[in-house]
Formats: sequence, structure tokens, C-alpha cells
Amino acid sequence: MNPISLNSYRSLPESMFTPDIPVATRDPQLLILNDGLLKEYGVADTWFRSGEGLGILSGNAINNENPPIAMAYAGHQFGQRVPLLGDGRAHMLGQMPTANGAVDIQLKGSGRTAFSRGGDGRATLASVLREHIVSEAMAGLGIAATRSLAVIETGDTVHRDSPERGGILARTARSHIRVGSFQYAADKLGDDAVQALADHVIEQHFPEIATEKNGYAHLLLTVGESQARLIAQWMLAGFIHGVMNTDNMSIVGETIDFGPCAFMDEFNANKAFSSIDRRGRYAWAKQPGIGLWNLTRFAETLLPLLSGDSDTAVRIAETQLATFMPAFQAAFYGSLREKLGLTDQSELNKEFADMTLALMEQHAIDMTVFFDTLTRVAGSELDEALLELFGDRAAAQQWLTQWHDLKADDADTAQRMRLVNPVIIARNHRVEEALRAATVSNDLKPLMRLTIALRDPFHYTAGNADLRTPPLPEERVRATFCGT
Ligand code: AMP
Ligand code: MG
Repeated sequence: MNPISLNSYRSLPESMFTPDIPVATRDPQLLILNDGLLKEYGVADTWFRSGEGLGILSGNAINNENPPIAMAYAGHQFGQRVPLLGDGRAHMLGQMPTANGAVDIQLKGSGRTAFSRGGDGRATLASVLREHIVSEAMAGLGIAATRSLAVIETGDTVHRDSPERGGILARTARSHIRVGSFQYAADKLGDDAVQALADHVIEQHFPEIATEKNGYAHLLLTVGESQARLIAQWMLAGFIHGVMNTDNMSIVGETIDFGPCAFMDEFNANKAFSSIDRRGRYAWAKQPGIGLWNLTRFAETLLPLLSGDSDTAVRIAETQLATFMPAFQAAFYGSLREKLGLTDQSELNKEFADMTLALMEQHAIDMTVFFDTLTRVAGSELDEALLELFGDRAAAQQWLTQWHDLKADDADTAQRMRLVNPVIIARNHRVEEALRAATVSNDLKPLMRLTIALRDPFHYTAGNADLRTPPLPEERVRATFCGT
């Protein structure tokens, strides 16, 4: 029986969504079913492997008892307001009850909708597989993200710069409501719609807020706190989202929309990969500022709900927004100190953490290798392991001497550091290599091997040895493309 049995979005104000059905595909194949995720959910794979399951996930069958919808949203893209975006190539099938609560199941690449504008509603198989790999990597690192449940090859050709194989991603999320959903409600529908949307989010995702006196102010605070934590986690994994538009900022604090995102190799605070982010608006170090900018757009939509008096509403919003940067800083420096094996939250340790970032940047040191090596040095390895990463050993030695002085001197420091310092991340050259094998040579094995390794990123295993190393100069990936 089809486990996608709910659709809570149907209770939202009309015009927040439209009934819309996927466009049929020619010869769909289930390329990947995420058994690990189904296990976490406590949901059997039977239906997903059945003909009926494939029919629904490929857009060739519709569940008339719970028909799909496309959701409306607006957004600021690269700072420019776009009054209507919406699911231009995605269909919300509804929610599936799981052991972790109900999750949305959305098809991405499932054909044109009322919101497609000039687009074809389709996704390339490569972009779908890329989202699969990176969202698995995020899950392995313990970073909240939408998940890839299944990858379908459609059998259709998708026309980009050249003809490409088409794909559909069935992804799960706690919610697909974005800051852009609130912007759409505020701009197009008015205060009642914003209130209905906010009430929906509180009821579905933050029931603890419902009893608060000013629930909407609490909603703003909660959304800000979860984004602050999320962005701190991204940054400490070297992750650059690449398109932090307000339509790509989830209200429940999950990483969403893996377009041109990437993990950086050698540390550079100004690093941006996305080929469409020419000015580096979404560079590594800019992410908290952009998070706050997006949150401010969210706050603007809530103003009429915060107070009947507009000055008071602005004051309330400002008070809540003022907590964002301190929350980010606390999360970022708290975790950075853990990565360094420092237990004490002193100002001195914060300065040392900043110095560490500057050191890595100045000497172009690979971030993952640095913290991995430091973890081993905290254990039984010699300082030499870290020193040999540097051309300028004197600078490294000076830093290391300070670190030894500051480091917590207990036996299990190395073990604690290992819990937060991965040995493997989704390095761009490995991702590209896996995608090439899958889409050009029809060989999924490298991709499967990479995702298995990424699900267990904190351990050295025989299986991840060659996947851990930084790119050779000729392997470097300099830019990522939306590759939609
Ligand atoms: P994204 O860059 O994936 O966050 O998408 C931004 C907006 O463009 C969203 O409204 C998408 O639905 C829409 N979009 C992206 N690709 C396509 C496509 N191939 N066809 C139609 N709409 C698209
Ligand atoms: Mg998007």
C-alpha cells in the first residue's frame, strides 16, 4: 500500500499551492533506493520496489486518493526580489508517517507545473545524483538536511548545453516551507495567509511554541537559532551552500537545494564555488551574514503578527534578530574549540581558534586533513605529522607549541576530537568522478562506494582510503554549476 498517506499542505490557504500532476516519463528505472534511510524511518521497501511504487515516483501513476500538488513561493535571489517562484519542476506527493514523524516526499525533476515559467520542469540525472551524494554526506556528518530517498532515471533526454540523461529525485524533508513561502503569502495573499502559514508551521513542527504568549516572536527566534546552528555546522565542515536565496532557506533548519554547493579542500574564508555566484555573495565566510539577511526578510513578513502597533512589531523583530549572530558565534566557536580539542570556552581560546583559521588560510592547508591530522597528533602520533603539511614549518611549529599549551590534557581528548573531525568529506573531484562514471560510463559502483564511505565519515576504513585525499593539481574542481 502507498505509504505516502497524508498531505498536510492541503490545509494551507488556497493559492499557497495548486493541484498539479507529474508529467509521464518514457522508461523509468529505479536506480537507487535509499535502504539505510528507509530503515531509519522504519518503513518497508516493498512498495518502493513495486511496479506501483515506481509508477508513482516516476510520474507515470497518480494516487487519486492523495493527489500531488505544486507549492507556491517567492524569494530573493542574489538579493533581488522575485515575486513568484514556486515548484517549477517539483511535485509534492504528500507526507509519509515514519518512526521519526511524518516526512514530506517530493519529486524533483517531475515535469512542468504551473510555476515552470520558461523551464522544462526536468532535472538531469547528474544533478539528481549530485544531490543524492551531497545530502548523504550531510547526513553522515550529522548536519540537518533534506534526504534522498530514491533516484529514478527517466529514460527521457533533457536538453541543456548538450543532450543529457533525465532523472527524478524523490527527496524527503521535515518541511518544504521556505522563507520564500512566507514572502509569497505576505506579498500576494495578505496577513491572514501569513498567520495561517505560521500557525501551520508551529502546529506541525514547533508545537512547544503554541503555548507561548507571543508565539510568532518565538517562531522567529526558533527559526533563527536553528539556522545559526546549521550555518555554523556547514562552515566547520567546509561546506559552501552556494545559493542561499530566501527560497532555498528552510523554515525548519534543514539544508535544502543542493545546486552548486561544495565542500572546500584548502581553507579560504572567501571561497565560493558556484559559477553563478560571481561576486562571492555566498562565499564561505559570508554565510552567517546572509543567513541573518534572509532571516530579516522572514521577520518582515511576520511584522503584522508580532503586534498591532507597527513600531512595537519592529522592536520585537529587532530584539529577536539580535540573537542570531550571538547564537551563530556560540555555535561556531563552541564547535571549533571542540575540533581543536579545547574544553575551556575562554576568550583566549576563541582568539586561538581565529588564529588557526588564519594559519590554515595563509598556508593553504586542507581543512579536513588539518583537523584529522591534529586529532591523530592529540592521540599517539608525532607533531611531525602536522608539521609536514606545511611548507613553512616554523609558523606551524609556533602554532603547535601554543596548541599543546592550551589543549585539554586528558586521555580522551583525541577520542572527543575524532567525534567532530571527519576523515572524509564529499570532495568535489571525487563527486565529479563518481558522476562521470554513473552518467557517461553507466557505472554506478564508484558513486555507491563514495556514498557508503560518506555515511561513516569519522572512521578510517579500508574502503575510504583513496577517497580521503585532497585533489592533485590536475584533479581540482574550480567551479560548480547549477547543472540543473
Ligand atoms: P533552484 O535554483 O533549484 O532553487 O530553483 C529556482 C527556481 O527555478 C524554482 O522556482 C524552481 O522551481 C525553478 N526551476 C529550476 N529549474 C527549473 C526547470 N528546469 N524547469 C522549471 N523550473 C525550474
Ligand atoms: Mg530552490
